[in-house]
Amino acid sequence: VTALAAPAPATAAGLPYQDPTLPVATRVADLLARMTLDEKLGQMTQAERGSVTASDLTTYRLGSVLSGGGSAPTPNTATSWADMYDGFQRAALATPLGIPMIYGVDAVHGHNNVYGATIFPHNIGLGATRDPALVQQIGQAVAEEITGTGVDWNFAPCLCVARNDRWGRTYESFGETPDLPSSLSTLVTGLQGTTLGGPTSVLATAKHYVGDGGTTGGDDQGDTQLSEADLRAIHLPPFQAAVQRGVGSVMISYSSWNGVKLHGHRYLITDVLKGELGFSGFVVSDWNGIDQIDGASGFTAAEVSAAVNAGIDMVMVPTAWKTFLSTLRAEVQNGHVPMSRIDDANRRILTKKFELGLFERPYTDRSRTSTVGGAAHRALARQAVRQSQVLLKNDGGVLPLARDNNKIFVAGKNADNIGNQSGGWTISWQGSSGAVTPGTTILQGIRAAAGPTTTVTYNQRGTGIDRTYRAAIAVVGETPYAEGQGDRTGSMSLDRDDLRTITTLRNSGVPVIVVLVSGRPLDVAAELPRWNALLASWLPGTEGGGVADVLFGGYAPTGKLPMTWMNSVSQQPINAGDGQVPLFPQGYGLTY
Ligand code: BGC
Repeated sequence: VTALAAPAPATAAGLPYQDPTLPVATRVADLLARMTLDEKLGQMTQAERGSVTASDLTTYRLGSVLSGGGSAPTPNTATSWADMYDGFQRAALATPLGIPMIYGVDAVHGHNNVYGATIFPHNIGLGATRDPALVQQIGQAVAEEITGTGVDWNFAPCLCVARNDRWGRTYESFGETPDLPSSLSTLVTGLQGTTLGGPTSVLATAKHYVGDGGTTGGDDQGDTQLSEADLRAIHLPPFQAAVQRGVGSVMISYSSWNGVKLHGHRYLITDVLKGELGFSGFVVSDWNGIDQIDGASGFTAAEVSAAVNAGIDMVMVPTAWKTFLSTLRAEVQNGHVPMSRIDDANRRILTKKFELGLFERPYTDRSRTSTVGGAAHRALARQAVRQSQVLLKNDGGVLPLARDNNKIFVAGKNADNIGNQSGGWTISWQGSSGAVTPGTTILQGIRAAAGPTTTVTYNQRGTGIDRTYRAAIAVVGETPYAEGQGDRTGSMSLDRDDLRTITTLRNSGVPVIVVLVSGRPLDVAAELPRWNALLASWLPGTEGGGVADVLFGGYAPTGKLPMTWMNSVSQQPINAGDGQVPLFPQGYGLTY
């Protein structure tokens, strides 16, 4: 048990922990010495917004609230987010010590839970840009939108190294080799700023520690069976890079390493992450992640102490937070969790709250609420979309399209669909098809980019095309999903409707350009010989104009594959580096 010094007396500036001129470590020590056990346990507890009232924060001294994927106030506007945030904050500050809460969201490609926010390409598209400076700028823009709604913590970036395209989180990966997520961890610097505490600084989270993308079969939340040397070589480097950039929090992976769940893995969390890598921020669990330590649902007292003793500092409970508080209290009182561990967790969490400036500026700065979905951020997103496009085939130079005196036919289920081009984690957790949030569809982008002497005709199924058209564009691919296997058909190929649409276009004799909207490479090898061009668009988000910029040559493609492209689904995991011959290697990408 660490003996804590008696708290110092108050001065004219208030209590020492309230004095912004004192060093953070001094303020933390002073505050810690004043806290009761229940206040400390509250700091370690994160509840979901739908399962707590503001007054619960006061009564139970809860330290953190989150929005699970898509969980938003009604109406879902930036202003009501700010109102919600300020309501929770007022309740947290109404406790005797007035410790501010910290609010976490999954703003994984823009502030994507908020209607009207700018939606950036998912990480796989950013991986194709290979542009750390661009990704840093995106982080800064996202942080501006996040802080415009009061929120101070982002569960991003996902630094997974996706090794099997069947995994339903492949699109959350910057790439299949550790160099890409490591170099693009500049997102951390963009989100946090060079130091925490600037006016638009939000706490970043490197997730999911560690090996989440390496599970056997691409199973979500599965088992990563690797030697320690391979785990360190493939999955650890991005976290090391993020720690070097000063990432403030790390989220633990649902997955196991050689059969042992990460949520109870003291060696990997305490010895490797906090010890060897020198991570000084705090570790948060994933959503109900501690429940999985023993394989059965719900958490037991043994799981609570195992998780906290392994080095998890804050637990995303997210609904059973009352039971969690009483269980952890009992585990401390019966000696299963040492008080030194509780103090260490609190020291880590409170340090970040002080560094963020939450004690001085606890409420939303309303002057920034209007930056949400603003023109400057949309322009940046469009630039990211341009840079993320990977041109995989371009026979006879069918691309770029002529702007003038052209006759273009556009078809496909993803041509005029903001929801489909944004993918999962957009307004709702799983994402959904349709006009889910304002933006420019790929079709709208094509119409805007075409010159006045060019005709653009659209029919989703391709009906009405004839020989008088010069180009047919089929925008096809996946529809939104999040987590899980993600692969619905098992064949990882285009669905029947997409194939039928493409066949209709092809039968007209007009050259066919396939724009593939997908969260990962698909098995297209058998169809490819019949297509004149193939552009991998990934999940571009709300700024579909960036796709059109590439199609018309306003921007010559620069994107390179962040992942190896399979020649057949039977090659999965194609990313395992075992010498299979792919359709396109990692790094492949044509230009004009
Ligand atoms: C996901 C995390 C996410 C958390 C909170 C979990 O299901 O695995 O990536 O941060 O939910 O929404």
